Amino acid sequence: MFLDLIEQLHVREQQGLKRHRTVTTGPQSVRVVIDNHAYLSFCSNDYLGLAGHPELMQAVCEGARLYGVGAGASHLINGHSAAHHALEQALANFTGFPAALLFSTGYMANMGVITALVGKDDAIFADKLNHASLNEAALLSRARLLRYPHCDTAALERQLAASTCRRKLIVTDAVFSMDGDIAAIDRLIELCEHYDAMLLLDDAHGFGVLGNKGRGVLFSSAEGTLPSEQVASRIIYMATLGKAAGVFGAFVAAADEVAETLIQTAKSYIYTTASPPLLAHALLKSLERIENDEWRRDKLYRLIELLKTNLQSLKWRLMPSNTPIQPLVIGAARDAVRVSSTLKKKGILVPAIRQPTVPQGTARLRISLSAAHEEADILFLADELHKIASVHDAHV
Ligand SMILES: *Cc1c(COP(=O)(O)O)cnc(C)c1O
Repeated sequence: MFLDLIEQLHVREQQGLKRHRTVTTGPQSVRVVIDNHAYLSFCSNDYLGLAGHPELMQAVCEGARLYGVGAGASHLINGHSAAHHALEQALANFTGFPAALLFSTGYMANMGVITALVGKDDAIFADKLNHASLNEAALLSRARLLRYPHCDTAALERQLAASTCRRKLIVTDAVFSMDGDIAAIDRLIELCEHYDAMLLLDDAHGFGVLGNKGRGVLFSSAEGTLPSEQVASRIIYMATLGKAAGVFGAFVAAADEVAETLIQTAKSYIYTTASPPLLAHALLKSLERIENDEWRRDKLYRLIELLKTNLQSLKWRLMPSNTPIQPLVIGAARDAVRVSSTLKKKGILVPAIRQPTVPQGTARLRISLSAAHEEADILFLADELHKIASVHDAHV
């Protein structure tokens, strides 16, 4: 039994593509303990340092006293608690959309939105570098899937102009999770208007980090305000709550009719237990921290600049990114893994990202920064990278 699986796993191992999980202990933070060793971590999406915030931890305990630990049922049966409802209203207010709907995870939100809004007579136009959950959802929807080269809005426009499908849905990461760059939102919105399309924006990495008060990518224009009501009515905004927000879950903010359609038809919303209300309770606190702690974003952006400055003379290049995702391109998968494991010996965790997550030959270290890092942490990382690069040179 399973001989073919054993064989496949073996091949994966030989190609240096077998992935391993590490077991961490203690709260998520930029300092983690693995096998009794302390590490400085650049792995987490906890961009604002909220995942281990005492106030949020206390809110979880309070939420447990108020609501117990489990929701007990799906939202449509009787799992939709006052905490979920209050959080949805707070998220709608915060993002400036008429309605917001909570999902258990971002993966499920993307599944739900795409399969609820498009079907076999429709077309999806998707950036080549979109998150896996968007691609999987597109396949499941049975809509025609057209992928355009990364951020190539001219290619997208040609595809839109040629399409005769009933509904058109443009789907994009707002901040690309492996490159850290930002989609051309203004241009995408223009194309939606011109070609009568909808736009699903996956702001998993922008919410809390970008824009006025951390309201996300739609607020990161110079004016810092949401596009007009008419334009916003074409946008379906999805963001996760397990990254910068530090907790767990996701939400979709959109027009009332979109939210209502999701409640009626999104299977990943309907056929699953509501997330524990205590998380929603804690997320209300997290939202306050996101909105009020401007210093976290200020600090994060200072650290990003510090990293860029200190890696300027390194032979490996940072990809052009102004977000806390700072990928350092190494090239071959084996080299990226080697640099990552050398850093680990020095007490620094930075994940090596290889194919199939990124194209072959662009294996990279995905350095993610957090407001919980200190300047000394960034300088330590930069210093060790310079040392590894010089040893690496000596061996070539
Ligand atoms: C993390 C991520 C998701 C999935 O969100 P989860 O809440 O972790 O399931 C979706 N899209 C993008 C771009 C992501 O980075």
